[in-house]
Amino acid sequence: ASPGSGAVQQVLLAEPRGFCAGVEMAIKALAWMVRAFPTPVYCYHEIVHNKLVVRRFEDQGVIFVDDISEVPVGSPIMLSAHGSAPEVVEAARARGSYVVDSVCPLVTKVHHEVKVRAGKGFRIVYVGHNGHEEAVGTMAVAPDAIDRVESVDEVDALPDTDQPVALLAQTTLSHRDWEGVAVRVKERFPEVWTPGRSDLCFATTNRQAAIEQLAHRCDAIVVIGSANSSNTVALEKLARAEGCEVVHRVNSAAELPAGLSGVVGVTAGASAPEELVEEVIERLAPSQGVELLVVTDEDEYFPPPRNIRELQAAIE
Ligand code: SF4
Repeated sequence: ASPGSGAVQQVLLAEPRGFCAGVEMAIKALAWMVRAFPTPVYCYHEIVHNKLVVRRFEDQGVIFVDDISEVPVGSPIMLSAHGSAPEVVEAARARGSYVVDSVCPLVTKVHHEVKVRAGKGFRIVYVGHNGHEEAVGTMAVAPDAIDRVESVDEVDALPDTDQPVALLAQTTLSHRDWEGVAVRVKERFPEVWTPGRSDLCFATTNRQAAIEQLAHRCDAIVVIGSANSSNTVALEKLARAEGCEVVHRVNSAAELPAGLSGVVGVTAGASAPEELVEEVIERLAPSQGVELLVVTDEDEYFPPPRNIRELQAAIE
């Protein structure tokens, strides 16, 4: 059977799924930049990790760069939702005619924790993915004070220290990976300082709670989102860890595999637009329709960056 052949009986649709408040804010902010300035508008890194979103902005005249030196002097620049290194923000301000930083406030919170703890003389153990833009930006806040780890083995390999130790994290980790590593850090450094509330953000936590429920009720799970989206990959891993044997991450409906049947769970990472979800459901064509699996209401809203509000006021 192929998707759409009628073998899929029902789709169980996770709620919440897809765009989080941070992604909504960043996308709206870039849309305002495109409205306010003659193109090209430059964006440092993919605004969010989703190919469809990026391609749409490219079609509107946004040029994405991975190095600020690629931006012609005097151009408008947007910095991505993942948060940028302080030297990148500085370089953008020196080069750009108008700079908007669309960093998610929950990433800014982690940058702030890094700055404060490093300033107080802490050694920081940061749990984050090697090379991920959020991790790179966060570590750059205090590079000499941070050790990045991703596994229990890497915690064991950390050098002993006489300094106080703080434990911080990338916002989009799988909570299982995070907890395993955090337990080991606490064993090695019993006095470790941690923030009152974990750095894993509400959107990550809610989408993971939903997929853990889906995994027990579905014959297969489809996670919509890009391979470079940390929270999407975490969803895929968690579905498997919860015992669901058929888990597919797809960028779009075109990538759905043949042969899905029974009850299929569907969710989407925080940077995947809802239209991709609609296309996937249409292609799966469940004979008994769609049931929502609601784990919580998500009503967070982040206002646009301050200078975008100024632009809006100037245009309207
Ligand atoms: Fe912010 Fe979390 Fe969304 Fe990342 S996933 S943009 S930290 S709300």
